This record gives sequence, structure tokens and C-alpha cells, in this order.
Amino acid sequence: MTEDRPHILLVEDEMHLARGICFNLEQEGFRVSHVESGEEALELLAYDRFALIILDVMLPGMDGFSVCEQIRAMDARVPVLILTARANDGDRITGLKSGADDYLTKPFNLNEFLLRVSGMLRRSAWYRPEPVEEAYRFGDNEVFLLSYHARTAQGEIDLTELEVKMLSLFFQREGEAVSRKDILESVWGYTSDTETRTLDNFIVRLRKYFEPNPAQPVYFQTVRGVGYRFARKPARSEE
Ligand code: CA
Repeated sequence: MTEDRPHILLVEDEMHLARGICFNLEQEGFRVSHVESGEEALELLAYDRFALIILDVMLPGMDGFSVCEQIRAMDARVPVLILTARANDGDRITGLKSGADDYLTKPFNLNEFLLRVSGMLRRSAWYRPEPVEEAYRFGDNEVFLLSYHARTAQGEIDLTELEVKMLSLFFQREGEAVSRKDILESVWGYTSDTETRTLDNFIVRLRKYFEPNPAQPVYFQTVRGVGYRFARKPARSEE
């Protein structure tokens, strides 16, 4: 279900700072999800879309720059604000090179921080207006790939980058059996055993969104020993 409040992801391992930031952003009317590591952030990003990502550089595990590069590989559009501890030109440049849109040096003034956040959200709305587009229709569903959303029997749904990639692959190859390998390569860019389970979870999710009865899929069908087939007109799976 969509919610009107912009959803912000905060990646910050310093709890007292994170609490302060969350509190103030919520006071400003934003919805905030907070994680303490880059790994957790990337996991969330596979499933959720955010209006803005606030990313600390010094994190346990993967550092903020590497996280930012990975975010960019998944989503070229989401605005990223980097928080750096050092007023160091090298950091600023590394940050911008890794795909961040803006940076703030810690410690920062709260008002400046909030202004920066709302400015970034406003700019991203100007630069990337929701395009008016024709829906791809099947059954009771309308899918808008460019603007990452869908209307289904259950209501409005926001789609993630990976869901959009997977749906466009299925729509392009409508009626064909698409192998697991092809799906993994086009959606994730590589194949591995872990991604295989992720792929099945994605199909489960697509069925929940779009199938009248997810337990007996008629659009996203299993093709035994091969992978999956998308049918625009409902048909039985071979299972
Ligand atoms: Ca930190």
C-alpha cells in the first residue's frame, strides 16, 4: 500500500545520533526506517523503495562509499545524502564519485540537515516527475513500469527496482518459458545459489500482488525444470 509521507532510509551505526535524526525527520512528517549497517540497507533496498537515503560513511562492515556504489547499481534514481565525519576533500570527492548526490560533514547543524533533506527531495521531484504512461494490463492488474507502481485487485502497490526489472523481462517475453538462469542474469546480473532462493521468493511476491489466487497461479506460471512463464491471458500452470 502506498503512503503519502516520503519514506527515508537512514543508515547510521551511532545510536544516539540515529535516534535524534529519526525523531527530527518524523517531526517533519517523514517516515523513517533505520538500519545500522550497509549490508542491512542493501537487503532492505531489494524489497523497498525510498524517497531518500541518508548514509553514514564510517559503518561497521561495508563502508558508506561501497554501499553507495551498490545502491547506484540497483537504483540510479534514489537521492543519496552522505554523512562524513571528516571535513576532508578526499571524502567528499569519493562520496560524489560513488554516486552520492550530496554530503554533510559531522557534526552538523540540525536545521541545515533538515533543509538539505527537504531540498534534495524537492529537486528529485522536479527532475524526476512521475511520467504519464500507459499501463501494461493483465487480468485486474495495471502495471506502470516507468513510475514503479501498480494497481491490483488489492489496491495500489509500489514496485522495487528488482520487481520492475523482473516484470519487464516477463512482459517482453510474454508466453515464453524463461529459464531461471535468464531471469537471474537479467534481473540480478549474475547467477548464484543464494539468488535462486531469492528468485523464488520474488515469484511468490508477484503472485501475491497479481494473482487472483496465489496458490493457483494463472499469470506467473511455474515451468517445471525450466523456470517461469508469464501469460497475459490466464492459463493453468503445468504443476
Ligand atoms: Ca558511523
